[in-house]
Order: sequence, then structure tokens, then C-alpha cells
Amino acid sequence: MSASATDPTAISSRVYNFSAGPAAMPVSVLKELQEELLCLPGAGASLMELSHRGQVFTDILHGAENSIRSLYGISDDYAVLFLQGGAALQFSMIPANLIRGNDKTAQYIVTGSWGKKAIGEAKKEGNIESIYDAKESNFDHVPSPGDYKVRDDAAYLYYCSNETIQGVQFAQAPSCPTSVPLVCDASSDLLSRPLDINKYGIIYACAQKNAGPAGVTVVIIRRDLLDHAPANLPGYMTYKNHADGDSMWNTPPTFAVWALGKVARWLTDDIGGLAAMQAVNEQKAKLVYEVIDANSNFYKGHAKPDCRSKMNVTFNLPNDELLGRFVKEAASQDLASLKGHRSVGGIRASIYNAMPLEGAEALASFMKDFASKNG
Ligand SMILES: *Cc1c(COP(=O)(O)O)cnc(C)c1O
Repeated sequence: MSASATDPTAISSRVYNFSAGPAAMPVSVLKELQEELLCLPGAGASLMELSHRGQVFTDILHGAENSIRSLYGISDDYAVLFLQGGAALQFSMIPANLIRGNDKTAQYIVTGSWGKKAIGEAKKEGNIESIYDAKESNFDHVPSPGDYKVRDDAAYLYYCSNETIQGVQFAQAPSCPTSVPLVCDASSDLLSRPLDINKYGIIYACAQKNAGPAGVTVVIIRRDLLDHAPANLPGYMTYKNHADGDSMWNTPPTFAVWALGKVARWLTDDIGGLAAMQAVNEQKAKLVYEVIDANSNFYKGHAKPDCRSKMNVTFNLPNDELLGRFVKEAASQDLASLKGHRSVGGIRASIYNAMPLEGAEALASFMKDFASKNG
């Protein structure tokens, strides 16, 4: 009998995990973490047991930062911060730093649940205008540039590049006057494709979709935006403190930063960078969407075709009974966590960076079979 047949922790016991987040991580990264967990080579202790001020962790943090900087070619005009509080804290930190206590207005484009949550938090901080809201059509699309008007004196324009729950993604950033900082929640698609960071004032992502374990949020912020915070803002909420303190204004989430650094290195060395990652991600998404389109009497995609997410594929089945069977039968074939978010229903297949092509192939083939048996 092979070891894997008896060992529930063996790699062969791992399923294709379509979870929306926390989500699949690269196996090679998990193996490295496992190997180095008890004793980081040369450090005499686990990384989790070391001071964040010591050389070992400082090098790890700078390594993670440098990997992200070189993946995107980020210039010194930007700070790259590792923060806690998830994407959710950014919903508040952004307006708190940029509009709390002043009379400027920030504008929001809302294309799904996360944008909706973000604008709700922002309204507690100052003047907010929604300039586009796709809720009438159940968040199935993103706007075209002519559909909204950004004022030249807006404090910033906010949007979410990939709405994880609805599976709706901007192919390009929305158009925005150069005088207005563009702010983006890229929690579920940062590191999945190349981007010109220079277009952004702030772009941020919690790690647990594409970049590592929960517990750390990457915030890339143009340095001129560090000087707008009101003096009485709590210290942790103030971006400038984190930028001045090299993300060590207080104790950073050392384990999560360590893991994120390994994911960024995997992306660079094993995958070959963001363009290579994007090519694989598009291939995976195409496999699944093709099955939806070829069986359009059976599978109903949620997003309009030109707004479909490459990361979260959302679709429904003809009825709840079939939906339940789909989830159950998929799970029996090691295709896990496919049930959609309760607010949208149906199926959501999250195919982030760490989902191998084989996983998308297995899902597509299961979907074809299921439709032909039940359609
Ligand atoms: C997951 C997610 C969030 C929420 O992240 P938390 O870390 O739970 O706060 C926000 N926005 C998007 C786009 C997400 O995918």
C-alpha cells in the first residue's frame, strides 16, 4: 500500500479546491513552509518565533516587497505596505486618510458586493458620491467609460477590479482624469495579470485569494497620498506611519508576510511572471466558460460575457435540486468548494493563480458530463 493511501496529510489527499478565499495556495510553497516551519535554515527557530525587528524577518519582508515591486515594475514613487485588517479595513482607511475632516468628495463605481460594502464604510468618513451602481441588473456587468462622469476635483475614484462574489471583472481600469487618484480594490485579481501601477493612487489586495494566507493585505500607495491624513487619525489607520516605519509601525503578521513572499517568488521563478500567469489564467477561464456557452440551455452564466471574471466563474443550474446534486457529485470527484455565495446562489468556481490547469480541465469535463446526463 502506498503511503498516500493511509496518510490523510499526504499531497495525494488534496482536492481541487475552488474556494473563493481563503483559497488554494501553490503546493510547492506549502511544502517549503512545511519544511522550514520548525526551524528556518540558519535561524535556529521558526520564523513565527523570531522578532520582527531582527535581520531574518527584515530580509523576508524586504524580499517580499522587492518581489512585488519587480513583478509590476513599481517605482519609488510608491510605497508597498503590508497591513492587517484585511481588505475590509481599507474600506475605511482610504476615506479616513483622504477625506476625513476635509470637504472633498470621493466618487465610487459599484459593480458588486465588495464595492457596495466599501461605499457603505466610506460614507461614515466624509462626502461620497456613487457615480455608477450596477445593482439594478443584479451586478452582472461593469460600466463602459461613457456610463459615468468623474469630476476633476474628486478626492479619488474608487472601484473594485474583480467582484469576487458576482464574478464580474474590469478588463481595463475605468477612465479617470489624471488629476484624480484612482483607487482599486484588487483583492481577488492582484498578481493574476500585468497592470500599469502608475495609473493608480492606491491599489490594494488582501492576500487570501491570490497571494497567500489570510492575515496580510498589500497596499501599494503613491507617496504624495501619504500626506493627507488628519492629525487625529488613529496611528494604525494612518498610511504614513506604515510607510515611514517600513511596515513595522507595529508587529506585522510575520507568518503571512513570509508565505506571501514565497508565493511572489513562485510567481516569478516557477511561473515566469505576470504575463505568463495571465496566459494560464485565461486558458483556465476559457475552458470553463466554453462549457457554459456550449450548454446554454443548462448552465446560466451570471456575468455578461464581456465582463466575465477570469478568477471567479459564476453560473446557475436549472433548479435547486440539480444545483445540490452538482455540488455533491463534484465533491465526490475531488472538485471542492463550488457552492456559490449565498447572495448570488448557484455555483462559483474560483480559479485563482494556484489552481492548476488540470483543475480547470477536470471541472470542465465534469460539467460537460453533468450537463449531458441531466440536461
Ligand atoms: C475577499 C474580498 C474582500 C474582503 O477581504 P477581507 O480580507 O475579508 O476583509 C474585499 N474585496 C474583495 C474584492 C474580496 O475579494
